[in-house]
Amino acid sequence: LMSRAYNFCAGPATLPEPVLRQARDEMLDWRGTGMSVMEMSHRSDEFVEIADTAEKDLRELAGISEDYSVLFMQGGASSQFATVPLNLLGDTGRADYINTGIWSKKAIAEASRYADVNVAASSEDSGFTTVPLQETWNTRADAAYLHYTPNETIGGLEYDFVPDTGSVPLVADMSSTMLSRPVDVSKFGLIYAGAQKNIGPSGLVVVIIRKDLLGKARAETPTMMNYQVLADNGSMYNTPATYSWYLAGLVFKWLKEQGGVPAMETLNRRKSGKLYDFIDNSEFYANPIEPRFRSWMNIPFTLADEALNGAFLEGAEARGLLNLKGHRSVGGMRASIYNAMPEAGVDALIDYMAGFVKEHG
Ligand code: PMP
Repeated sequence: LMSRAYNFCAGPATLPEPVLRQARDEMLDWRGTGMSVMEMSHRSDEFVEIADTAEKDLRELAGISEDYSVLFMQGGASSQFATVPLNLLGDTGRADYINTGIWSKKAIAEASRYADVNVAASSEDSGFTTVPLQETWNTRADAAYLHYTPNETIGGLEYDFVPDTGSVPLVADMSSTMLSRPVDVSKFGLIYAGAQKNIGPSGLVVVIIRKDLLGKARAETPTMMNYQVLADNGSMYNTPATYSWYLAGLVFKWLKEQGGVPAMETLNRRKSGKLYDFIDNSEFYANPIEPRFRSWMNIPFTLADEALNGAFLEGAEARGLLNLKGHRSVGGMRASIYNAMPEAGVDALIDYMAGFVKEHG
């Protein structure tokens, strides 16, 4: 009897079961306060403690030094597409972007409303199956920042290097790869990540910003989008997304118990590796991404006969393997296997895929 399915959704995505259980246990009465975290004043000692602990644990997990502010903002990663240029453009008004897929494009389109955007490199000609190597980038030394998308959630394309931008601040949309492996934060000017993959519930967005980049927002920047204002107020200029923040904190605690991001790296390498190996060794399934740039988190694949897509999804659903349908813009299938997807879920998927070939291939 199965109560929890294996949910391969790209986001909102599966959360660690122990986190959900703890949230359930604490739902009505958080540690004797007689109320749910959802009902607490964000100014209460209890919530401030929850918030501070979450930040402290994230700093520890990701190796974030005191040179950086950590902000718990709202509006998802998409709001950062505008918030970043509004805060960082400064006097130059120029920003460089790398285009590796649908999320890069969205960031570029939004930034273009505010900035002189230079697309310094693009892999669109390849159908976004590769990452343009840095030697080929046409960057500008006077850009206010360079923005890239380390993991393209829809395409399943992931950088295997951190760009070196010298003195130009590097900005990364890490929504779908945050905390999946160790990253040297000191190489970045700003990192942002929508929470609904590796962190917690949707709506929340975590921003890690080098402190020297604060205080440069354009005059017309909405107050709620001004990093300096958020930093000055501990992300509580207004009422923050308290319950999401609390859940993110539970996820961070869980991650620490699992051995932190180094343990996630090992697990994610193994999980994605076995799925790619299975796909590559099959005549029936295919993944188009250049192997070195294959995502550990989002694995799109196609069936040799597209007419079988419906049957594949139906059979998967009957086995509790959910949300495998690829993004509407790409078609085919996509398995998102973030930190919280147990290895057993990947094994069950591979089992199912192998059986499906026997039956239909
Ligand atoms: N960037 C990336 C890389 C994403 O995967 C997503 C969501 N899938 C977004 C941005 C947008 O996030 P949100 O829906 O939180 O605005």
